[in-house]
Amino acid sequence: MQGYYGKAKENVSLNEKSVKELITCTGENPNRQGLKKTPQRFISAWNYITSGYKKNAKQVVNGALFDAEDSSMVIVKDIDFFSTCEHHLLPFFGKIHVAYIPDEKIIGLSKIPRIVEVFSRRLQVQERMCSQIMSALDEILKPKGVAVVAEGIHTCMVIRGVEKVNSKTVTSSMTGIFLKNQRTRKEFLSLIK
Ligand SMILES: [Zn+2]
Repeated sequence: MQGYYGKAKENVSLNEKSVKELITCTGENPNRQGLKKTPQRFISAWNYITSGYKKNAKQVVNGALFDAEDSSMVIVKDIDFFSTCEHHLLPFFGKIHVAYIPDEKIIGLSKIPRIVEVFSRRLQVQERMCSQIMSALDEILKPKGVAVVAEGIHTCMVIRGVEKVNSKTVTSSMTGIFLKNQRTRKEFLSLIK
């Protein structure tokens, strides 16, 4: 698991020359007006969509943990995510639903979408993104259970290959009571519908 937590290399950065080459190979003139500054723009967009490598979940949470008063389910649903498919370097995006059942601690609610960003803004497969979010919350909160469900549209499927515009990929990752207790799992699934 830990092996996946890549770190951006400080001294290596994408250079304009390689982006220019990509444009040239396509059959275009990289010096024409509309494309002249494209390498620069691409690099800054690329750095943004892969900025998750420069963050980690603990840093983002920054100690925003509070004592739990009971152990009822906490759900943050319909969190937008934007990620990049590691097989095609094309975007995939959609909604993520996160739930946990506290044991001793709860987390500031705004922190959950920020944890999603740490793992989505990387080169990913949707399954791993879910399990990394799940593991991070499990590690930080040590709750009774965590459940993460993602529904994603993969542009690599939509704009090429099978061209299924409306197909959604659904993945889930669960731990603790969500795995052991069918009632809890059912409650979660019905609440995110
Ligand atoms: Zn893909």
